[in-house]
Amino acid sequence: MSATTAASGRFAMMIDGAPVEGGEAPFDVINPFDGSVVAKAPTCSKADLDKAVSAARTAFKSWSALSFEDRKGYLKKMAEVTEKNKDALAELLVLEQGKGRIQADYEIMAAQGWFQNAIDAEHPNKLFEDTKEQKVQKLYRPLGVVGCITAWNFPIALMAFKISFGLLSGCTIILKPSENTPLCTLELARLYNEVLPPGVLSVVTSEKKELGEWLVKHPGIDKISFTGSTATGKRIMQTAAESLKRVTLELGGNDPAIVLPDADPAKVAPGIFQAAFFNSGQVCIAAKRIFVPESIFDATVEAFANEAKNAPFGNGLDKGVVFGPLNNGMQYDRVRELLMDALDNGAEMVVGEVPPPREDAKGYMIKPVVLKNVKEGMRIVDEEQFGPVMPVMSYKTVDEAIERANNTEYGLGASVWTSDLDKGDEVAAQINAGTVWVNTHGEIDGTVAFGGAKCSGVGHEGGTEGLLAFLQLHVVKTKR
Ligand code: NAD
Repeated sequence: MSATTAASGRFAMMIDGAPVEGGEAPFDVINPFDGSVVAKAPTCSKADLDKAVSAARTAFKSWSALSFEDRKGYLKKMAEVTEKNKDALAELLVLEQGKGRIQADYEIMAAQGWFQNAIDAEHPNKLFEDTKEQKVQKLYRPLGVVGCITAWNFPIALMAFKISFGLLSGCTIILKPSENTPLCTLELARLYNEVLPPGVLSVVTSEKKELGEWLVKHPGIDKISFTGSTATGKRIMQTAAESLKRVTLELGGNDPAIVLPDADPAKVAPGIFQAAFFNSGQVCIAAKRIFVPESIFDATVEAFANEAKNAPFGNGLDKGVVFGPLNNGMQYDRVRELLMDALDNGAEMVVGEVPPPREDAKGYMIKPVVLKNVKEGMRIVDEEQFGPVMPVMSYKTVDEAIERANNTEYGLGASVWTSDLDKGDEVAAQINAGTVWVNTHGEIDGTVAFGGAKCSGVGHEGGTEGLLAFLQLHVVKTKR
């Protein structure tokens, strides 16, 4: 079968080290800026998936037997092929995801960072006790074949989060990207399979949700590592329970950002703006509920409004554009619906335009919206909106702000903005979230674990905990 490349406009799955075009009709991948078709992606059949699982099980024997250092050698080669192809990948990312080219370049850099973090990781095996009476060793074994499922907001970075630490651990992987953004993942699978042994990393795609379900149910898969919505995460956990498959679930969020009364609005506004609008707000750890004290409310809202008015939104391919459209029609409809609901219930739009119904829109562009007169009870505040809308709410006391920040089923990220760093730490300690930042928001890398509290997730990616997530603890006690 012919090799397929992004340049030729034909994309194939990679199964057992070879391109597979899939027996069924391929599906269209849409450019969210103008609704045009970027390319077609293959549809995986059950037989294709069985072949991927069987290849991954076979490859596991030799891959898991390699030394940690040898596997790092492969990760280095994967990082090298990414680097060589980064321009073509960034362009493809803009076309299928919609983000601005600057943000596409940034995403590839972040993905490369995770590879480097995995390359720098230490093996967790440990001599736990060594006395006259006994020796106790904590040894870690790779879990086996891992099914990875990713979302459409950061297809390249989410792939890197999973496969860098996953392959390092000695597991083999079958990855299914989102049906909205499969192309970069397919292209990377092709590149990585030039350097990896066959079967170590397969990528399968389909427009139908059933492919994800097949992966979760498959008896040849030992663990599911999932990034996506809380609703799908719950379903996956339920299904995985039938076979006691391990799960790592990186799920939705509704992050609060609390501005403390001592903060300077002009100083904190650019950082909070970025945290809310990066990737057009389609970030699990976007700042989505902004709490500002009454004393500096007007000045802070004005500073946000100035940021929003100057934001370079548009076609991600155009020079200077940073923020692109929403990725897909469903997301456009949802953000529009939540915005209309807020406006119907008394919210005031400080900056922004009401987007037209989808049938009257060319692509999925929603320009940045800053809202005031918003409160809990409105859907835009209570639900994960995942779009470029910033609801700003005032508060009277810091204790009240903390209580309201915690009043959500989510617990992914949060931030505190202040010129008093001790006070910042004190407030951060009271927020129930996987990561709380002080004077920044959303910075993650693979050196430290990332994961959600409450309904935002189970387990971690990155750091020691992220590596352990692919390993089974194996204790050996030797009596002397
Ligand atoms: P989604 O849950 O709809 O889909 C995510 C992935 O799951 C896709 O590949 C999809 O095809 C697959 N899927 C759908 N139904 C499935 C099923 N029944 N079984 C198995 N797989 C299934 O989420 P989305 O709309 O693609 O992504 C947006 C969500 O992802 C947001 O909630 C966002 O917060 C979350 N997210 C979380 C993180 C994190 O690290 N916590 C990172 C990025 C995105």
